Amino acid sequence: MKRGNQWVVAALLTALALTAGGCATGMELIPVATIAAKGVTKAAAASRPISDSEEYYVGRAVGARILAQQSLRQDPELTRYVNEVGQAVARKSARPQTFRGYHFAVLETSETNALACPGGLIFITRGLLQTCETEDELAAVLAHEVAHVANKDGINSISQARWTEVLTAMGTEAAKQYGGVAGSLVSLFEGSIDDVFKTIVVNGYSRTAEEAADAAAVQTLKQAGYDPGAVASLLDKMMAKEKGASGGMFKTHPPTGERLSKVKALVGEAPAAGKEVAARTSRFKKIKI
Ligand SMILES: [Zn+2]
Repeated sequence: MKRGNQWVVAALLTALALTAGGCATGMELIPVATIAAKGVTKAAAASRPISDSEEYYVGRAVGARILAQQSLRQDPELTRYVNEVGQAVARKSARPQTFRGYHFAVLETSETNALACPGGLIFITRGLLQTCETEDELAAVLAHEVAHVANKDGINSISQARWTEVLTAMGTEAAKQYGGVAGSLVSLFEGSIDDVFKTIVVNGYSRTAEEAADAAAVQTLKQAGYDPGAVASLLDKMMAKEKGASGGMFKTHPPTGERLSKVKALVGEAPAAGKEVAARTSRFKKIKI
């Protein structure tokens, strides 16, 4: 818990150092004659999208909040395996590269859930791992979460008003010259982190975002050589499990009949289930969860 908090602080301070550094350099380069144009610069700055490095730092802080509530499963073998599968699908996704790459980890809880922090930090719970019966189904979960990162569903939940506030605070002279507004900048960043955390942990994404992530997962699995039908079979299992379940992934990733039929339509012809599938499944079965 303590380590998590330190992580948040470190992430924020680094983010602040980066932005302050950028601003300071800019200031030195601006000649007096261009001060008149400054208003325009400020307006442009307040409307720019979040950068990849900012996305990474917000994502890391969101990850720290998740880890303040849930513990990581301490199993290097399992973590290595989940990362291997995760990296294989991430490479074939619509966004193979992020600022610091994709990282996959297992949360020690029986809840059935998976979470994607902005920038590529992805968690899958032990409960969901146990729901998967094949490596292809694990790949389906991870491909779906990678799609949320690629589509920036988490980072886009930061309200426009909030982001404008952050950018405006970053652009002030006081922020550039002194640490005087650093406190308010930290609290503004905290607000952005709140927005993302609430979306990915509490409220979930829109149905449109979920369906887009399913569609991307089908595509990614095809590209990576996995069975795209695993997206459908996993949804099937989740729907069966949903009866009586109220929290976790059932809340933030509601598996619905409509989602399932859309996925089935995308999957198309079933791939040949050959030796490879059998090899992957036996590899999956060897992993103790
Ligand atoms: Zn989702």
